[in-house]
Amino acid sequence: MTINGGISFWYATDPGTPATTPPRPPLTAHAAADVVIVGGGYTGLWTAYYLKQAAPDLRVTVLEQKFCGYGASGRNGGWLYNGIAGRDRYAALHGRPAAARLQQAMNETVTEVIAVAAKEGIDADIHRGGVLEVARTPAQLGRLKAFHAAELAFGESDRELHDAAATRARIDIADAVGSGWSPHGARIHPLKLVRGLAAACERLGVVIHESTPVTEIAAGKAVTPYGTVRAPYVLRCTEGFTAALKGQKRSWLPMNSSMIATAPLSPETWARLGWSGREVLGDMAHAYMYAQRTADDRIAIGGRGVPYRFGSRTDNDGRTQPATVGSLRDLLFSFFPVLTGTEITHAWSGVLGVPRDWCATVTLDRTTGLGWAGGYVGSGVATANLAGRTLRDLVLGESTELTALPWVNHRVRRWEPEPFRWLGVQALYAAYREADRREAATHSPTTTPLARLADRISGRH
Ligand SMILES: Cc1cc2nc3c(=O)[nH]c(=O)nc-3n(C[C@H](O)[C@H](O)[C@H](O)COP(=O)(O)OP(=O)(O)OC[C@H]3O[C@@H](n4cnc5c(N)ncnc54)[C@H](O)[C@@H]3O)c2cc1C
Repeated sequence: MTINGGISFWYATDPGTPATTPPRPPLTAHAAADVVIVGGGYTGLWTAYYLKQAAPDLRVTVLEQKFCGYGASGRNGGWLYNGIAGRDRYAALHGRPAAARLQQAMNETVTEVIAVAAKEGIDADIHRGGVLEVARTPAQLGRLKAFHAAELAFGESDRELHDAAATRARIDIADAVGSGWSPHGARIHPLKLVRGLAAACERLGVVIHESTPVTEIAAGKAVTPYGTVRAPYVLRCTEGFTAALKGQKRSWLPMNSSMIATAPLSPETWARLGWSGREVLGDMAHAYMYAQRTADDRIAIGGRGVPYRFGSRTDNDGRTQPATVGSLRDLLFSFFPVLTGTEITHAWSGVLGVPRDWCATVTLDRTTGLGWAGGYVGSGVATANLAGRTLRDLVLGESTELTALPWVNHRVRRWEPEPFRWLGVQALYAAYREADRREAATHSPTTTPLARLADRISGRH
């Protein structure tokens, strides 16, 4: 039987779930702080962590509507890697050297997260096996080679390109025609990281209120049903949930991503599959997948499912449509036919934030004291750490290498109103699915024009 929802597999299988751990106390009265942070995911918690490290006397309060890690930070695929949404657009806007500095900062961020986890004693099942991206059609191989060349041009020197045989020697993926490997990635247990981070923040003296939804953010205050927290700096770290905040309905589109996990696989099965390097695994399809070999020897695999719900509605504690569970299961079995019939024990979903130009941003408006970071489009695990360190420098008023990066203070136009927003996203993902189908059927070595058109219309490239 598949457990569907329950926030995520990570919650369902980890001791100390919300069912067994009482939430931190909510706000009970008006309060004051130097910095108030809305959202207890990676972005909010990394920001709190680095602010307190740098300025121990600063009064930092985190307000979380449910509990820390309720959002994507407690549900994701556990790819801690160096991808950042918008790098190519930032290169076009600010020049390649600026974008290369951003990429370099992301490469270092992977190492930073691993180092802080070790320093703070956070055991998040981290395994630095790198990132393996596989091509399963000639068109995907064409994109893989172009991607490889682009990464080298951005200064990455230690990437590898593998042919079909070398790919299957690493992981026995059906129909693999090639793959690329980068060392800038690690497998993590997302929930253990977010939970450990919250505890590290509290050790530093950060005040965290859970079960405390913020109903309004304005200059100098965050308003909740239980009281208002006043602070010169108010930082919005709500990513995929942002559209629910007053005045933010059309800022970042809440995009769903869904995952399933298998039962633990036997040593015999692993002997057939390989994957001893425990690389995080992705592909080059337009409707791409992402996967990891978990610490307890399952496969957790994700993809888009139902991408977007009308009116920017977000969440129902991770419950996932049966059709999406079925298509992820089919995808898993097509990658690994030897697994056909394997029990799928968990299915879940979460939301991530997609800006209209698909570029992640970190911003602080000095005149109002309002700041925010997000719009990571599915590459937020590492990016949120870079955002946290950057928000620290911005709040402390310091000009640093981080505050000079091109994603800082980037402004983006809003999404179209409904029903155009819904229709546009449905059409976009239908086009990507059809493009994947055509590329697989025709064996064409080039990306189908349909996908290029979808990229252009969506503002993705
Ligand atoms: C299924 C899935 C798989 C993913 N896989 C990967 C991956 O493998 N690698 C990767 O790099 N990225 C991945 N991502 C994206 C990544 O998880 C996110 O970008 C990242 O976790 C964002 O962190 P965050 O803190 O900004 O947002 P969140 O983790 O969503 O945290 C926001 C928090 O704000 C709280 N909140 C919202 N509104 C309010 C309010 N009004 N008042 C108080 N609190 C509020 C929420 O409850 C939530 O806890 C994935 C996302 C999903 C959904």
